[in-house]
Amino acid sequence: MVPVLRFAGERVLVMGLGKSGLSAAAALRAGGAQVIVWDDNTATRSAAVAQGWTAMASGERALDGVKAIIWSPGVPHTHPKPHPLAVQARAANIPLVCDVDLLLEAQPDAAVVAITGTNGKSTTTALTAHLFKHAGRKCAVGGNLGIPALELDPLGLGGIYVLELSSYQLELVPHLAAETSALLNITPDHLDRHGGMDGYISAKRRIFDTQRIPRTAVIGIDDPICAAMAAELKRDGLHKVTPISVNVATPGGVYVDRGQLIDATDTRPAKIIDLRELPRLPGLHNWQNAAAATAIARSQGLSGMEIAAGLRTFGGLAHRQELIGQIANASFINDSKATNADATEKALACYRNIYWIAGGVAKEGGIDSLKPYFPRIKHAFLIGDAADDFADTLEGHVPITLYEDLESAVEEAGEMALNDKLPGATVLLSPACASFDMFKNFEERGEAFRAEVHALWPQTNAQTNGSAA
Ligand code: ADP
Repeated sequence: MVPVLRFAGERVLVMGLGKSGLSAAAALRAGGAQVIVWDDNTATRSAAVAQGWTAMASGERALDGVKAIIWSPGVPHTHPKPHPLAVQARAANIPLVCDVDLLLEAQPDAAVVAITGTNGKSTTTALTAHLFKHAGRKCAVGGNLGIPALELDPLGLGGIYVLELSSYQLELVPHLAAETSALLNITPDHLDRHGGMDGYISAKRRIFDTQRIPRTAVIGIDDPICAAMAAELKRDGLHKVTPISVNVATPGGVYVDRGQLIDATDTRPAKIIDLRELPRLPGLHNWQNAAAATAIARSQGLSGMEIAAGLRTFGGLAHRQELIGQIANASFINDSKATNADATEKALACYRNIYWIAGGVAKEGGIDSLKPYFPRIKHAFLIGDAADDFADTLEGHVPITLYEDLESAVEEAGEMALNDKLPGATVLLSPACASFDMFKNFEERGEAFRAEVHALWPQTNAQTNGSAA
């Protein structure tokens, strides 16, 4: 834990008592602050009070004497409608910050790498941390991924914090001060929370706002929004811009040329590795993540050889095209994190002989965008609320069966794949849907898939590769 001394002897409010809220409360108390807490959920609040925390008093004077509010990034404070407490705080000039801001102020001597993007944040963050650790650097990884910021170890001088930051968090970190900031890509997402596309882009842009020298800005330039932002940062001349691309050679950046990962951050382009040799990073999207991690690692002084060695040993993340097991010619892939058609498209693009398990709570637009990939699907096994809609779209293109539960779908899909005489049969759980009709979250859905595969085919038990996100 990193104790926070900034509010010693002063009153602070922790708003939102999830994992990071409670760890922020503990870090503030360890640093001598008078902590009061709040959560709109009565049960959550009572549980915190039972653990010894003091709940905020209600009424107009609730914020009297409060120096700052540690705000849970999930709670709206501007759009679509600000929480009343945020309105009250702004009227009283009380700053809203999140736990990441407290960490960075408490650990000014450690280096900071900040990573954001619409997609690929967790993979890139985990991969970057792996590169540093594999090269023997003192490194801690957290933020939006895994461990809450203030539960990380104090690293001090010579250490590197690798932090995944969501757009919500970026709005609440006024002292970001990262040496290296990376923005992978931007496509429309969370627009209601940011008041539209402009608000979402400017939240992402904040990752470059308060950087420390040398202000390295790693940006994926394969989408038009990020390409424009890279050009703007270059024009401003305040940042060392490192463009990354999987489509074009980028002088001064890191790019992919016919599967080869090329580092052109030095004067001469140099090959790092053949990405096609890395089964844990399948697909162009993962090549973008690998390029970003490489650019970040180079900015912090890792050599091409150290990076190549790290890329080779990366185990991948759980629930993101995670290989659960293999029997003869059949592979079982857990891509439970794919909660929309865009994410599922990335997985369908990687395999040819697919036994596809999909369904849950569909997002707008359904799976129409996946039509070009239908010829790769041997059979679709549909579950959950979206099953009928998905069946309508697939009808006439792909054989379909509907199931009441995931377990029966897995059993049938596995049996068909094992009987497939063609090489490379793949049982792919990539639902293109949220999970909350049948599961608590995507992790629980992925674990259910893993458990069923292992129960039905015990020989897959020892083969799991993913590390928890
Ligand atoms: P995030 O943390 O941003 O949600 P993850 O690394 O957890 O991203 O990946 C989630 C899903 O997003 C993956 O299963 C994959 O389908 C897709 N994805 C991963 N990286 C990228 C990328 N660079 N570009 C587009 N999609 C990606």
